[in-house]
Amino acid sequence: MRVLLVEDERTLARTIARGLQAEGMLTDVAHDGLVGLERALDGDYDVVVLDIMLPGRNGYDVCRSMRAAEAWAPVLMLTAKDGEYDEVDAFDLGADDYLTKPFSFPVLVARLRALVRRGGIARPTVLRAGDLALDPATREVSRGDEQIDLTAREFAVLHHLMRHRGMVVSKLDLLQAVWDLHHEGSENVVEVYVGYLRRKVDVPFGRQSIQTVRGSGYRLVGDGR
Ligand code: CA
Repeated sequence: MRVLLVEDERTLARTIARGLQAEGMLTDVAHDGLVGLERALDGDYDVVVLDIMLPGRNGYDVCRSMRAAEAWAPVLMLTAKDGEYDEVDAFDLGADDYLTKPFSFPVLVARLRALVRRGGIARPTVLRAGDLALDPATREVSRGDEQIDLTAREFAVLHHLMRHRGMVVSKLDLLQAVWDLHHEGSENVVEVYVGYLRRKVDVPFGRQSIQTVRGSGYRLVGDGR
Protein backbone atom coordinates (compact mmCIF):
# COMPACT_ATOMS: atom_id res chain seq x y z
CA MET A 1 0.00 0.00 0.00
CA ARG A 2 1.51 3.31 -1.10
CA VAL A 3 0.68 6.53 0.67
CA LEU A 4 1.44 10.10 -0.36
CA LEU A 5 1.54 12.45 2.60
CA VAL A 6 1.40 16.18 1.83
CA GLU A 7 2.09 18.06 5.05
CA ASP A 8 4.21 21.18 5.55
CA GLU A 9 4.80 20.78 9.28
CA ARG A 10 7.98 18.79 8.97
CA THR A 11 8.06 17.28 12.44
CA LEU A 12 4.48 16.13 12.14
CA ALA A 13 5.11 14.82 8.62
CA ARG A 14 8.12 12.84 9.81
CA THR A 15 6.20 11.38 12.74
CA ILE A 16 3.25 10.34 10.59
CA ALA A 17 5.49 8.93 7.85
CA ARG A 18 7.45 6.85 10.35
CA GLY A 19 4.28 5.54 11.88
CA LEU A 20 2.83 4.59 8.51
CA GLN A 21 6.05 2.88 7.47
CA ALA A 22 5.90 0.89 10.69
CA GLU A 23 2.40 -0.20 9.65
CA GLY A 24 3.87 -1.49 6.41
CA MET A 25 2.72 1.41 4.24
CA LEU A 26 5.26 2.81 1.80
CA THR A 27 5.05 6.52 2.42
CA ASP A 28 6.30 9.45 0.34
CA VAL A 29 6.23 12.92 1.81
CA ALA A 30 5.80 16.29 0.09
CA HIS A 31 6.08 19.52 2.06
CA ASP A 32 4.17 21.85 -0.20
CA GLY A 33 1.17 21.78 -2.48
CA LEU A 34 3.07 22.10 -5.75
CA VAL A 35 5.29 19.10 -5.17
CA GLY A 36 2.36 17.28 -3.62
CA LEU A 37 0.24 17.70 -6.72
CA GLU A 38 3.09 16.70 -9.01
CA ARG A 39 3.62 13.50 -7.03
CA ALA A 40 -0.09 12.77 -6.81
CA LEU A 41 -0.38 13.00 -10.60
CA ASP A 42 2.77 11.02 -11.36
CA GLY A 43 2.87 8.44 -8.62
CA ASP A 44 0.78 5.38 -8.30
CA TYR A 45 -0.61 5.94 -4.82
CA ASP A 46 -3.35 3.99 -3.12
CA VAL A 47 -4.28 6.93 -0.94
CA VAL A 48 -3.29 10.57 -0.46
CA VAL A 49 -3.21 12.36 2.90
CA LEU A 50 -3.56 16.05 2.27
CA ASP A 51 -3.14 18.88 4.73
CA ILE A 52 -5.28 21.90 3.87
CA MET A 53 -3.08 24.85 4.77
CA LEU A 54 0.00 24.32 2.61
CA PRO A 55 2.51 26.58 0.92
CA GLY A 56 2.37 26.64 -2.87
CA ARG A 57 -1.13 25.37 -3.38
CA ASN A 58 -3.54 24.58 -0.60
CA GLY A 59 -5.02 21.15 -0.05
CA TYR A 60 -8.34 22.04 -1.65
CA ASP A 61 -6.57 23.26 -4.73
CA VAL A 62 -4.45 20.11 -4.93
CA CYS A 63 -7.50 17.89 -4.53
CA ARG A 64 -9.47 19.81 -7.13
CA SER A 65 -6.56 19.68 -9.58
CA MET A 66 -6.14 15.95 -9.03
CA ARG A 67 -9.80 15.32 -9.84
CA ALA A 68 -9.68 17.65 -12.83
CA ALA A 69 -6.75 15.57 -14.09
CA GLU A 70 -8.75 12.39 -13.50
CA ALA A 71 -6.50 11.25 -10.66
CA TRP A 72 -8.88 9.30 -8.47
CA ALA A 73 -6.72 8.05 -5.60
CA PRO A 74 -8.79 8.44 -2.44
CA VAL A 75 -7.95 11.62 -0.52
CA LEU A 76 -8.07 12.08 3.22
CA MET A 77 -7.88 15.75 4.22
CA LEU A 78 -6.34 16.97 7.44
CA THR A 79 -8.21 19.97 8.80
CA ALA A 80 -7.44 22.31 11.67
CA LYS A 81 -9.92 22.17 14.52
CA ASP A 82 -11.30 25.67 14.16
CA GLY A 83 -10.33 26.12 10.54
CA GLU A 84 -12.35 28.35 8.29
CA TYR A 85 -13.12 25.38 6.11
CA ASP A 86 -15.58 22.67 6.90
CA GLU A 87 -16.37 19.12 6.09
CA VAL A 88 -18.85 20.12 3.42
CA ASP A 89 -16.14 21.98 1.54
CA ALA A 90 -13.76 19.04 1.70
CA PHE A 91 -16.33 16.61 0.36
CA ASP A 92 -17.52 19.03 -2.32
CA LEU A 93 -13.99 19.22 -3.64
CA GLY A 94 -13.71 15.52 -4.05
CA ALA A 95 -12.05 14.50 -0.78
CA ASP A 96 -13.16 11.10 0.44
CA ASP A 97 -12.61 11.49 4.14
CA TYR A 98 -11.17 13.97 6.55
CA LEU A 99 -9.62 14.08 10.00
CA THR A 100 -9.44 17.03 12.33
CA LYS A 101 -6.06 17.81 13.89
CA PRO A 102 -4.95 16.74 16.39
CA PHE A 103 -5.96 13.19 15.55
CA SER A 104 -4.98 9.86 17.01
CA PHE A 105 -2.57 7.86 14.91
CA PRO A 106 -4.48 4.54 15.08
CA VAL A 107 -7.56 6.37 13.80
CA LEU A 108 -5.59 7.69 10.82
CA VAL A 109 -4.32 4.20 10.01
CA ALA A 110 -7.81 2.71 10.29
CA ARG A 111 -9.29 5.40 8.04
CA LEU A 112 -6.57 4.95 5.42
CA ARG A 113 -7.07 1.20 5.38
CA ALA A 114 -10.82 1.68 5.05
CA LEU A 115 -10.38 4.10 2.14
CA VAL A 116 -8.10 1.71 0.30
CA ARG A 117 -10.42 -1.23 0.97
CA ARG A 118 -13.29 0.74 -0.48
CA GLY A 119 -11.29 0.67 -3.66
CA GLY A 120 -12.04 2.66 -6.77
CA ILE A 121 -13.41 6.03 -5.90
CA ALA A 122 -16.44 7.01 -7.91
CA ARG A 123 -16.27 10.32 -9.62
CA PRO A 124 -18.48 12.74 -7.66
CA THR A 125 -21.87 13.23 -9.15
CA VAL A 126 -22.22 16.01 -11.66
CA LEU A 127 -25.33 18.05 -10.88
CA ARG A 128 -27.63 18.70 -13.81
CA ALA A 129 -30.65 20.85 -14.53
CA GLY A 130 -31.67 20.42 -18.13
CA ASP A 131 -28.50 21.00 -20.15
CA LEU A 132 -26.89 23.02 -17.37
CA ALA A 133 -24.20 20.95 -15.62
CA LEU A 134 -22.07 21.64 -12.57
CA ASP A 135 -19.21 19.39 -11.51
CA PRO A 136 -18.47 19.87 -7.80
CA ALA A 137 -15.11 18.11 -8.12
CA THR A 138 -13.60 20.09 -10.96
CA ARG A 139 -15.74 23.19 -10.39
CA GLU A 140 -16.66 23.22 -14.05
CA VAL A 141 -19.98 24.59 -15.20
CA SER A 142 -21.36 24.18 -18.67
CA ARG A 143 -24.54 24.62 -20.65
CA GLY A 144 -24.68 22.12 -23.48
CA ASP A 145 -21.18 22.08 -24.92
CA GLU A 146 -20.28 25.54 -23.71
CA GLN A 147 -18.08 26.03 -20.67
CA ILE A 148 -19.12 28.87 -18.40
CA ASP A 149 -16.60 30.72 -16.24
CA LEU A 150 -17.91 31.61 -12.82
CA THR A 151 -16.27 33.32 -9.88
CA ALA A 152 -16.02 31.29 -6.68
CA ARG A 153 -19.02 33.12 -5.20
CA GLU A 154 -21.14 32.71 -8.31
CA PHE A 155 -20.23 29.03 -8.36
CA ALA A 156 -21.30 28.64 -4.73
CA VAL A 157 -24.66 30.32 -5.38
CA LEU A 158 -25.32 28.10 -8.40
CA HIS A 159 -24.15 25.01 -6.53
CA HIS A 160 -26.65 25.70 -3.77
CA LEU A 161 -29.48 26.30 -6.23
CA MET A 162 -28.64 23.14 -8.16
CA ARG A 163 -28.52 21.04 -5.04
CA HIS A 164 -32.07 22.21 -4.35
CA ARG A 165 -33.18 22.06 -7.95
CA GLY A 166 -36.93 22.51 -8.35
CA MET A 167 -37.31 23.81 -4.80
CA VAL A 168 -37.79 27.35 -3.59
CA VAL A 169 -34.61 28.67 -2.01
CA SER A 170 -34.98 31.85 0.01
CA LYS A 171 -32.53 34.71 -0.16
CA LEU A 172 -31.77 34.08 3.49
CA ASP A 173 -30.95 30.43 2.73
CA LEU A 174 -28.51 31.55 0.07
CA LEU A 175 -27.03 34.21 2.28
CA GLN A 176 -26.39 31.67 5.00
CA ALA A 177 -25.12 28.96 2.68
CA VAL A 178 -22.81 31.06 0.56
CA TRP A 179 -21.82 33.95 2.74
CA ASP A 180 -22.17 33.12 6.41
CA LEU A 181 -24.54 33.31 9.29
CA HIS A 182 -23.03 36.51 10.55
CA HIS A 183 -22.85 38.28 7.24
CA GLU A 184 -23.45 41.95 7.89
CA GLY A 185 -24.80 42.64 4.45
CA SER A 186 -28.40 42.44 3.45
CA GLU A 187 -30.14 40.06 1.12
CA ASN A 188 -29.43 42.57 -1.64
CA VAL A 189 -26.07 40.94 -2.17
CA VAL A 190 -27.90 37.74 -3.06
CA GLU A 191 -29.96 39.57 -5.68
CA VAL A 192 -26.80 41.04 -7.14
CA TYR A 193 -25.14 37.63 -7.45
CA VAL A 194 -28.23 35.98 -8.86
CA GLY A 195 -28.18 38.77 -11.46
CA TYR A 196 -24.54 37.98 -12.32
CA LEU A 197 -25.37 34.30 -12.61
CA ARG A 198 -28.34 34.87 -14.89
CA ARG A 199 -26.15 36.91 -17.20
CA LYS A 200 -23.79 33.95 -17.47
CA VAL A 201 -25.92 30.81 -17.38
CA ASP A 202 -29.26 32.00 -18.75
CA VAL A 203 -29.25 35.20 -20.83
CA PRO A 204 -26.64 34.16 -23.43
CA PHE A 205 -28.60 30.95 -24.02
CA GLY A 206 -32.07 32.51 -24.07
CA ARG A 207 -33.05 30.64 -20.89
CA GLN A 208 -34.75 31.52 -17.65
CA SER A 209 -33.66 28.62 -15.47
CA ILE A 210 -33.21 30.76 -12.34
CA GLN A 211 -36.75 31.85 -11.62
CA THR A 212 -37.80 34.48 -9.11
CA VAL A 213 -40.51 33.28 -6.76
CA ARG A 214 -42.06 36.53 -5.67
CA GLY A 215 -41.79 37.15 -1.96
CA SER A 216 -40.01 33.84 -1.38
CA GLY A 217 -36.76 33.59 -3.27
CA TYR A 218 -35.57 31.61 -6.26
CA ARG A 219 -36.14 28.31 -7.92
CA LEU A 220 -33.83 26.63 -10.40
CA VAL A 221 -35.69 24.67 -13.05
CA GLY A 222 -34.39 22.20 -15.57
CA ASP A 223 -35.59 23.60 -18.80
CA GLY A 224 -36.31 27.29 -18.32
CA ARG A 225 -36.77 28.21 -21.94
CA1 CA B 1 -0.22 23.02 7.19
